Amino acid sequence: MIEVMKKDSTQDQLEGVKARIESHGLEVHLSEGVERTVVGVLGQIFIELKDELESLPGVLEVILISKPYKLSSREFKNEDTVIKGGDAHIGGDELVVMAGPCAVEDEDQVLSAAHAVKAAGAKILRGGAFKPRSSPYSFRGMGVEGLRLLAKAREETGLPIVTEVMSPEDVGMVDAYADILQIGTRNSQNFNLLDAVGKVRKPVLLKRGFSATYEEWLLAAEYVLAGGNDQVILCERGIRTFETGTRFTIDLSAIPMIKSLSHLPVIADPSHSTGRAHLVTPMTLAAVAAGAHGVIVDVRDGAQALTFDTFADMMTRAKAVAQSVGKVPAGTGR
Ligand code: PEP
Ligand code: MN
Repeated sequence: MIEVMKKDSTQDQLEGVKARIESHGLEVHLSEGVERTVVGVLGQIFIELKDELESLPGVLEVILISKPYKLSSREFKNEDTVIKGGDAHIGGDELVVMAGPCAVEDEDQVLSAAHAVKAAGAKILRGGAFKPRSSPYSFRGMGVEGLRLLAKAREETGLPIVTEVMSPEDVGMVDAYADILQIGTRNSQNFNLLDAVGKVRKPVLLKRGFSATYEEWLLAAEYVLAGGNDQVILCERGIRTFETGTRFTIDLSAIPMIKSLSHLPVIADPSHSTGRAHLVTPMTLAAVAAGAHGVIVDVRDGAQALTFDTFADMMTRAKAVAQSVGKVPAGTGR
């Protein structure tokens, strides 16, 4: 349920509404937009509450949200959420590119990748220190040493870092190093982990579960938002289909569809969805044309990784597509 305050309502009236909601053991989530102040009411809603709230001073109307996800919905917040990462704005009119090695492997690897992607126009450095692997025999990441190397790369380049956190116990440690905490596809319905990053006060990049529907994906985001963290970036990273020619199937419709359902920023991962380096540039361009607020790309290491040169070429082409759909250079917009 959401409650919309009148334009000329006072702070006292808002406090009165909040107190009334809380007196029923329900939770309040505020969205103070330019156009209107909306109070989200979460918990076991009862229908009489609608009339009760509508009778309070300062209240314009009370609307029931029919969707199971509430705080992530456009009904709750109509304006796009814009999230800052360094000098880039994710969710506004910029195309923000996050790039770097799949997994952090050593100092030279991560530093050289950081400098190269920055030179080509990337605004955020990616790199996995904790790697979720399909096989237990694959390299599972450097752990905290990987986080230190990412922090060193940030110090040298000024690029903020996005890196995955795999378990609730590690959230504090990853939070100490990362600028954006990534939740991988395999953990996107790990509800204890989602609760844990809901308590963090940094952006969370939430990958779509590879078998998650739009509704399940937005409900995963809802866990983070309901926990009190309103900075969630959604990432389409491909879903499981019958096709085996690519690693997963990138669902490009998800980009405009999620943008219509939710105010949260939506980016795409053309690397992990395709699993093939030669498909990364075409799928990046397609995602940008479909309206993605950004992309996250593996550069340098891994089967799907671009080389520094192909990454720079991809950036040039992505900028041209971005301009053609009305985007401004990263770091200059809102
Ligand atoms: C990654 O970005 O490093 C990764 C493992 O992605 P995903 O969770 O989408 O497979
Ligand atoms: Mn990877």
